Amino acid sequence: MALYVQKFGGTSVGSIERIKAVAEKVKGYRDEGHDVVVVVSAMSGETNRLIALANEINDDPTPREMDMLVSTGEQVTIALLSMTLNHMGCPAISYTGSQVSIVTDSSHTKARIKKIDDDKIRNDLNLGRVVVVAGFQGADEEGNITTLGRGGSDTTGVALAAALKADECQIFTDVDGVYTTDPRVCSKAKRLETVTVEEMLELASLGSKVLQIRSVEFAGKYNVPLRVLSSFQDGPGTLIVAEEVDAMEEPLISGIAFTANEAKLTVLNAPDMPGVASRILGPVGDANIEVDMIVQNVAPDGKTTDFTFTVARGDYKKAMGVLEGVVEEMGSGEISGDNGIAKVSLVGVGMRSHAGVASKMFKVLSDEGINIRMVSTSEIKISVVIDEKFMELAVRALHTAFGLDKEED
Ligand code: ASP
Ligand code: MG
Repeated sequence: MALYVQKFGGTSVGSIERIKAVAEKVKGYRDEGHDVVVVVSAMSGETNRLIALANEINDDPTPREMDMLVSTGEQVTIALLSMTLNHMGCPAISYTGSQVSIVTDSSHTKARIKKIDDDKIRNDLNLGRVVVVAGFQGADEEGNITTLGRGGSDTTGVALAAALKADECQIFTDVDGVYTTDPRVCSKAKRLETVTVEEMLELASLGSKVLQIRSVEFAGKYNVPLRVLSSFQDGPGTLIVAEEVDAMEEPLISGIAFTANEAKLTVLNAPDMPGVASRILGPVGDANIEVDMIVQNVAPDGKTTDFTFTVARGDYKKAMGVLEGVVEEMGSGEISGDNGIAKVSLVGVGMRSHAGVASKMFKVLSDEGINIRMVSTSEIKISVVIDEKFMELAVRALHTAFGLDKEED
C-alpha cells in the first residue's frame, strides 16, 4: 500500500459540493488501503478577498498581520474537509501548518520552509486517520504565522511528501495535466505523460502556470515523484520526473512556452569598450528591473555597438527612464524600444542530444514570414523574440512542425 500526499487547489474546494467530491475521492484511496495526507488551498477567491480587505486599510499592510489574515482561508477548508470525511465514516483530523511543525524562515508573505517534523502526522496515519493539512502556511521559530507566497499550497504538498517520503505527491487541479502548449492557443495541444523537472521549470517560468515554480524545484531537489491531475475527471495526469528514464524515447521537443508580456530596449551607438554592458545594466538592476535576454552586436566600425535587452512589459517605462539617465551619463548613444514583442520558446531535454533544432525552428518561422528579432539558447531551450501579432501563428506552426499535435479524434 502506498502513502500519497494529495493537494487540492482552490477551485477543487470552491464550494461544499466540491469539498464533498474531494472527500469522496480521498475516501476512495483510503478504502483501497492507502495512507493519505491531504493538503488544501483556501476556497477559490478567498485569498484575493482577504488581500482586498487588507488593502482597504492601506496599500502596504504589515506583512506579519497579512500572514495572520490570509492564512485563515486554508483553516476554513481543512476544517470543512475533515468534517465531511468524518461524516462519511472516514476518520480524519485537520491541522494548521504550525500544528504539524512546518517551520519556515521569517520572511512574511514569501517564507521558505526550513524543516518539517513528521511525527504527529505519522502517528495519526498509524491510527488510521486521513490527515488534512492547511497549505500555504507555516510558522517561524518564534511561532509567528508565515505564508509561502501565492500558490504556495503546492509547495506545502511537495514538502510534506518529501518529509514523509511519500510514494507520490499528487496535485489535483482544474486541468488534467501538463500540456505541450496552451490549448487555448493551439487546439492540437496534447497532454504529456511525463515531463522532467528541468522541462517543467522552463515551461512554468515561461507562463504555463500549472504549479508554483518552487514546488517543482523542491520536487527535483528531494526527488519527490510529482503528478498533476484533474479533480474533476479521472485520468493519469502528467508525471513530473527527476530524469527522463529512456533517453532513446525522448522526443526532441516536449513543449512550447510563450509569453506576450515582454518589451525590448536598445541602446544604439553605445561606445564599444570594456564596462559598457555593466554601465547599462547596472542601473537597470539597481532599479529592481529583471532583465531576460541580452544581445550585443559586433561593432562594425569598432567604435560603437548596439546593445539590446528584454524586460517584462510592466517594467518598460521604468527601464526607459533608467536608460535615458545612462545615455546622458555616457554622453553617447540613442535609445529605442518596442513593447509589442513576444517570446516563444521550444523546451525539451531531447535537444541535448540532437543538433539542428534551432535551424529547423528558424526555417519554420521564415516559411510563415515571421521575422526573428532576438534569439537565446540554453541546453534545453531555444527562445526567439518576434512581433507579438505573430505569436499564436508561430506557436501553432512550431507545434505541428515538431510533431507535437495530438492525433485527431
Ligand atoms: N490560497 C493561496 C493562494 O491563493 C495558496 C494556494 O492556493 O496555493 O495563493
Ligand atoms: Mg494553485
